[in-house]
Amino acid sequence: MKLTIVDGRRQEALPGLSGECPVCEATTIAKCGEKNIWHWAHKGKRQCDHWWENETEWHRNWKNHFPVEWQEVVRWANDGEKHIADVKTDQDWVIEFQHSYIRPDERRSRAAIYENMVWVVDGLRRKNDLKQFMEALRGGIQIIQKPLLVKVHPLDCRLVEEWCTSPVPVFFDFGDEIQLHGLWLLVPMGLDHTAYFTLVGKENFIGWHCKGIFNPQPFFDQIKLYEQKRVQSEKARYVPHRMPYRIPQRSRRRF
Ligand SMILES: [Zn+2]
Repeated sequence: MKLTIVDGRRQEALPGLSGECPVCEATTIAKCGEKNIWHWAHKGKRQCDHWWENETEWHRNWKNHFPVEWQEVVRWANDGEKHIADVKTDQDWVIEFQHSYIRPDERRSRAAIYENMVWVVDGLRRKNDLKQFMEALRGGIQIIQKPLLVKVHPLDCRLVEEWCTSPVPVFFDFGDEIQLHGLWLLVPMGLDHTAYFTLVGKENFIGWHCKGIFNPQPFFDQIKLYEQKRVQSEKARYVPHRMPYRIPQRSRRRF
């Protein structure tokens, strides 16, 4: 944890301090070593929020892009337990930063508990994910040029395969050193055989939330509509080998 309660206020870890866990109220100890980023830990081995993932520098950097009041917000979930949301914006968007692998059932239960949530996934944790992702993009189909929308086969990339059925938006963070790396949004179509990606700048993502204008739904609706129309027109053009009736001369010539 980055924040714990000290004298009734949320406080970052400093050497020698102890505090109270905002979830379970047990004693927390400031861990201020050289190896890990400074953080709070429960006294003993206790871990009250079983969803909690050990914080990395990647987590901390992401959280710090948002106001401190939005960071590590404790929420009551439908399961009767308290959980800490990595970031909860003033528009009630929960942003969860995921570095390590998370099981699909756990992902689903979190998406069910938070009404409006998005994942930001560390795309640079595993060695081959970025390479595979870029290859999948190259092998994909560009559906729209502006904004860039690419249709990808999930089996071409392990990371995409793991996340493609997510019912909520997922942003893959591939770092920002190279232009095309950036932050890629996996459009939540819920399909297991196709995934749609668009490139979103990290700065844009942060800016939309901080300005309170993050609302991707109209964009998703547009994509779904576009795809429905496209699939329909493909079906309309499709002529099976054996037609149950005589094909009019004109369309027979065309095909
Ligand atoms: Zn606790």
